[in-house]
Parts: sequence; C-alpha cells; structure tokens
Amino acid sequence: MQYAVPRGTKDILPADSFVWQKIEAACRKIFALYNYMEIRTPIFESTELFTRSIGKTTDIVGKEMYTFEDRKGRSLTLRPEETAPVVRACLENNLIGPDLLTKLYYIGPMFRYERPQAGRQRQFHQAGVEVFGSNDPLLDAEVIILNLQLLSEIGLKDLEVDINSVGCTKCRPAYRKKLSEYLKDNIKHMCADCQERFINNPLRVLDCKETKCQKYIENAPASSEVLCEECKTHFEKVVGWLDGLMVRYKVNNRLVRGLDYYTKTTFEIVSSKLGAQNAVSGGGRYDGLVEELGGKPTPAVGFAIGLERVIEIMTNDKYQILPAGRQVTNEGRIIIYFATIGEEAKKIGFDMLQKARSRGVSADMDYLGKSLKAQMKVADRAGAQYVYIIGDDEIKKQSAILRNMQTSDQQDMSFDRLFDELKI
Ligand SMILES: [Zn+2]
Ligand SMILES: [Zn+2]
Repeated sequence: MQYAVPRGTKDILPADSFVWQKIEAACRKIFALYNYMEIRTPIFESTELFTRSIGKTTDIVGKEMYTFEDRKGRSLTLRPEETAPVVRACLENNLIGPDLLTKLYYIGPMFRYERPQAGRQRQFHQAGVEVFGSNDPLLDAEVIILNLQLLSEIGLKDLEVDINSVGCTKCRPAYRKKLSEYLKDNIKHMCADCQERFINNPLRVLDCKETKCQKYIENAPASSEVLCEECKTHFEKVVGWLDGLMVRYKVNNRLVRGLDYYTKTTFEIVSSKLGAQNAVSGGGRYDGLVEELGGKPTPAVGFAIGLERVIEIMTNDKYQILPAGRQVTNEGRIIIYFATIGEEAKKIGFDMLQKARSRGVSADMDYLGKSLKAQMKVADRAGAQYVYIIGDDEIKKQSAILRNMQTSDQQDMSFDRLFDELKI
C-alpha cells in the first residue's frame, strides 16, 4: 500500500527547496530593510475569525475554507489568509495602540479548497506584511514599493502595479447602490454565481472570472465615480507619491479583491510578461478590520505575495531567473568529504569529520560501505570542494591525499596540517 499526497498539495523536494529558501531569504532581507518584524500565528483559528473578517458572502468563506470540529465540538478553520490572524494576535497581545506604528511580516502556508491548477494549490504559501496605526497615504506607497523591491530582489522583471480605491464605509453604500442598479438589467446574462452574488453582495460580482461575465464587469460603473472627499484625496495622494517615485502603475477601477475588509487603496502587482489575471501579489488598506474584530479603530495596510506563483515564474526557463538546469542545488553544498577505506580509517575519518563540523565547515562521509570510486561519485554529487582519502597506509603515514574536486589537483597533506592548510 502506497499513499499519495492529498489532492491540491505538493511535496517540496530537495531539488526544489533551494528555490524556496532563496525566496524566503529575500523576503527576510527586504522586510528587515523596511523595519518589519516577524509574527508566526497558528495554522488554524476559530472559524468565526474568518467569517467575520473576510465576509460571509465571499468565495473564500462560502466555498473554500477547510473547516472542521475538534473533539470538543469547536469549529476551527485552517487559515485561508493571514491578515485576520495577525489582527487577532495583535489585539490579544496588545501589539497595536495609539501613537504606535506596528510593522509585521509573515511567511507560511495557507489553505483554500479550490480547483487545483498551475500555480494554485489547496495548501499554498504566502509572504506578506501588515502595518497598523497610520492612515498616511505615503505608507500605502511605501508598502507598494516594498512589494516591488522584494519581487525584483527575487528576480522578477517587468512588474506593474494595478491600483484602485474601493472607498470606505461612508461612500461604499452609494457605490453598491449604483452597481446594483447597473446589474439589475444585466444580471440575467451573467453566471449562476454572479446571480447569487448580486443578491448577497453585488461588489463580489466584480471578482468573477467567468468569460461570459467579463463584458458586463468591464462596463460596470467604477468605484472612483462615487468616492467621498476623504477617499478621493487619499487616492490622489497615493498615486501622487507613486508618480514621484517613478513607479509604473495603472488605475484599474474593477480591482476590488475577493475580501470584504478592504477600504480605500487596493492594489495588485502583475508581471506584464505573464499577461492578465496573473497577479503575483496583492493587498490594500483595511482601516475597519481592527475595530470589526474588537479593537479600537486602527488604520492598517498590507499585502501578500503568492509564493507558488513566484516559484512558477522563477523556475520557468523562459524568464531565465535561475541558471539553466538548476545545477545550483549542488554548488558548494559541502566543503569536504572524507572518503575512508576500512574500519580504522572510518574511525579517524569520523573524528576529522566532526572536527570540520565543529569549525563550521560542512562535511560528510560514507555510511553505506561503498567502494572508493563510489564514494568519489557521492562527494561529487554533493558538490564537495575537497575529498580527503584515508586508508590503512595513510594511517601509518599520518598523511593522506587531498583532492581538489574542481581542479582535480591532488596533494599529500598530513592529518595535523589539513585544517590549517585549508584555512578551515
Ligand atoms: Zn470614502
Ligand atoms: Zn459571473
């Protein structure tokens, strides 16, 4: 009996994990540059946290959550996104407050029951940031720039920002009304999901990806037409900052994003090489969420990057972000391999191996009783820079051959000189 991974999940195997490590390292580096600190929350939360924050009528809550009861009958849900858990954690631990700017980042798996396809998994990964405490439009711009700098650090090119304002609790009802009036005449031509959305939350119609709905979505009234003064000024300032910073952006009035908590700015970052519907990252402002989840009114802004999408681009040879053939896996994985022949040599080899490791030098040896030739092959595959070959004669001489695997040079090197000579 063999088992398979659950549908929509993937093993990240050693041949690929180096790409993930590269991305995670870039995230930590760039987040630190902007003074963000990491937060790690549980994989599951109480279901209500998500129904309350993301919105009951969204696709995520309606169709995509992994919800289950624990043994005491509590309803729990595997996190489908990380903003609500971060807000929950901040409130529970008093991390946000007046006169305090709180900048947090996270990297980790999220879960949504969606139809698996390229770049979309049921367990997927996001890296993102959340900033609490300021409604300064410059912060919206900074978050967008951070997002762009991170993606270009990873190697993505030709990035463009799609940006919109979805308004606030003051001006959104007017937009909702305007949109409903427009949809009333057209909804019968749209998909079944949209007809349901029309009744529950007409704004969600704009999220629809069905081809037959697109022309009605394109002609729908834009949220920018009914923004209140405050939202309008905020948006003008955000794009003003982006202009000043020479950021390439496009105002996209259909960009509402699939969650209810967004207010004012929403944005997505697309790689123009990938074409439409290929956002690698998205986010926006959510000035009402902290209060909605029981805290004091606190403005906030954030984004999340879909790491599977980024990986898909990175590993596609078309974009030439990684070296062809991905040989990078083997490069310098270990510095030195101790090849040993015989029991006595194994003992001495192991002593040296541990001495190397205690000096911070990555090293390895054979545990399968392989021939010397086979050990050399293993060392080569591990990307060893050197192999030190120890047998009975070498023990007598207290000296052995040190082979440089790159140049194939060999030299005699005594046991006690080895580490000094290698400067390790
Ligand atoms: Zn407004
Ligand atoms: Zn539709």
